[in-house]
Amino acid sequence: MALLLGIAVVGLFGHRPLLWLADRRLDPTILLTGWLLSTVGLIVSTVATISLFALPADEHPASGIFRLAGGCWTALSSGSLPGWREGLASLGVIGAATILLRIGWAVTARRRRSRKTAPHVEQLRLLAAGAPSGDPLWVRDDRPLAMSIGGRPGVIVMSDSLRHHLTPGALAATLEHERAHLRGRHHLLVAIVETLAAALPLSPLLRAAPAALEDLIELAADAQAARRCGPAAVQEALSRLTGQPTPAVGLAMASRLTQARLRRLSTGSVGATRAMRVAGCTAVGVAALSLPAAAGWLALNVVGCVVA
Ligand SMILES: [Zn+2]
Repeated sequence: MALLLGIAVVGLFGHRPLLWLADRRLDPTILLTGWLLSTVGLIVSTVATISLFALPADEHPASGIFRLAGGCWTALSSGSLPGWREGLASLGVIGAATILLRIGWAVTARRRRSRKTAPHVEQLRLLAAGAPSGDPLWVRDDRPLAMSIGGRPGVIVMSDSLRHHLTPGALAATLEHERAHLRGRHHLLVAIVETLAAALPLSPLLRAAPAALEDLIELAADAQAARRCGPAAVQEALSRLTGQPTPAVGLAMASRLTQARLRRLSTGSVGATRAMRVAGCTAVGVAALSLPAAAGWLALNVVGCVVA
């Protein structure tokens, strides 16, 4: 029951501490970790916990994985579960199945949508196949355009007019920004939280995740580009590319939050140091994973009891 309460609290209010930390300008990589682990963790713990209703957990004081609690298997096989437990068990199964079916539906809908642009993306991948990995595919276009398309292999597309619009330093920063998106698998992260939000829009945490993640990946890519090319180069690239039309697929350089990003770069910020990022990610990870860990511990206890 305490676990269910924890799930409800995280599902309803889990976005608040993350948004509060974002207001305090915590390193974007740490926040990305927090959002991803808390959204995926919420789903995993919810499904695990309510599935456990189907097992006769209350029959025993299950206090350890290896504790051989007698009688529960007998209770299960002889069908001597009390009536209310049977009701709870079927509710648990229905709840878990509904969540999994909704996620399945959201994945299918997403696939169907991406099939429309698939031929174009495939063409770009083929064209980029000859270039060394990490190099952009240069296309002829008068509009300055820089974007990355996720997947295997990822593709960076840049228009040749960028060379006229940007200094070599800013051009290198733009390329580093797009490379950071591919290295960080940012397209995949956004796809995961968008799918979960579409599947289970009732949870404010899941609903808030896509917009927060889309902003954070831009900040994280800026920080990585700033570490390699200097904040001034990224700032120049961003201010020159602002206002360009955003493509239908992939992540464009100056699509979101440009004013806030420019402000952050103007302070010379390149994000936290590597050690600070690792420490921060670990701290956020421990906090975000405490709920799934508790659900996993309970699951091991219950399953251990049933098979014992
Ligand atoms: Zn970007």
